[in-house]
Amino acid sequence: MADDLSTTIAEAARLLAGARDVTLLSHINPDADTLGSALAVGLALHRRGVAVRVAFGEPETVPESLKALDTAGLLVHRDEVPQAPEFLVVMDTGSVQRLGPLGDRVTNCTGPVVVVDHHVSNTRYGTLHCVDSQAEATALIALRLLDEMDVEIDEPIARCLYAGLVTDTGGFRKAGPEAHKIAARLLETGVDAYAVTRPLMDSHPFAYLGMLSRVLAKAELDQKAAHGLGLAHAVVSLDDAREVRSEEVESVIDVVRSASEAEVAAVVKELRPGFWSVSLRAVSRVDVREVAQVLGGGGHRLAAGFTFDGTAEQVVAALKGALERVES
Ligand code: AMP
Ligand code: MN
Ligand code: MN
Repeated sequence: MADDLSTTIAEAARLLAGARDVTLLSHINPDADTLGSALAVGLALHRRGVAVRVAFGEPETVPESLKALDTAGLLVHRDEVPQAPEFLVVMDTGSVQRLGPLGDRVTNCTGPVVVVDHHVSNTRYGTLHCVDSQAEATALIALRLLDEMDVEIDEPIARCLYAGLVTDTGGFRKAGPEAHKIAARLLETGVDAYAVTRPLMDSHPFAYLGMLSRVLAKAELDQKAAHGLGLAHAVVSLDDAREVRSEEVESVIDVVRSASEAEVAAVVKELRPGFWSVSLRAVSRVDVREVAQVLGGGGHRLAAGFTFDGTAEQVVAALKGALERVES
């Protein structure tokens, strides 16, 4: 099918075939989709003799649970990214702001800026956009690009893509038939699904249990919020998070969203004193991307986020206000 995406993917593959030096960027606080997609395409290019680096703006170090994806040592610290890269590929990143301190590399880039993404809210900040908001994960678009480049998908590449696919689909709960077929194709290369998935989704240090019990004890349910559809929320302060990694803090939302009385779930996470990052999830009826966008954030219909300066109470009040403003 000669859709827009096929055309831009063919063009991206053509440009990459002539590239000598490629920088692949992931969004801040990288997840398996953004980093897996960057590492999969990065590995293919590296094997073809291209000078390759993969980086993200924040935090300074690679989340422990994602380290196993970098089998060729392509990840570099953000300071090692050239000030004016000659070729950029940006993965799973809806806006330049989501690159944090590496956002200036987009403006400074002397060659193509290829954006590979699945956010509806993508602001088209590159020079070529392989964007499909129907794709369950950026990893699926990255695979289309690799196929177009005639790359053999072996286990190290497939592992990266599988990691992105399994996490962005919530363990395949939100995956359609095509995504399941692709999962089968990736597993056929020898990917060990359990070994890849467990550190990403099901494994935490024991201190997680203590953190969870403190945070969940303070969780609140407001059934009047979101036009009466209900909001469950929890706050993770810096003090609550002291003994755990970012992976543990990020997974609190998966517990809070299980509250059946609430259409919307939120976890308000303190990144620095008085500066918060909020994760939003909806079951089906509220478009939380719209809610997040009211507050300067973005995301997908059922999973979105925003950042906020203030107190935890102010964040929650702002969120409830935004929920009232968005139709459901
Ligand atoms: P998270 O709750 O961090 O897993 O994020 C859920 C989704 O919301 C991700 O796919 C991101 O695209 C999006 N998102 C999270 N935080 C922000 C933000 N501050 N600005 C824009 N999009 C965000
Ligand atoms: Mn992502
Ligand atoms: Mn994604």
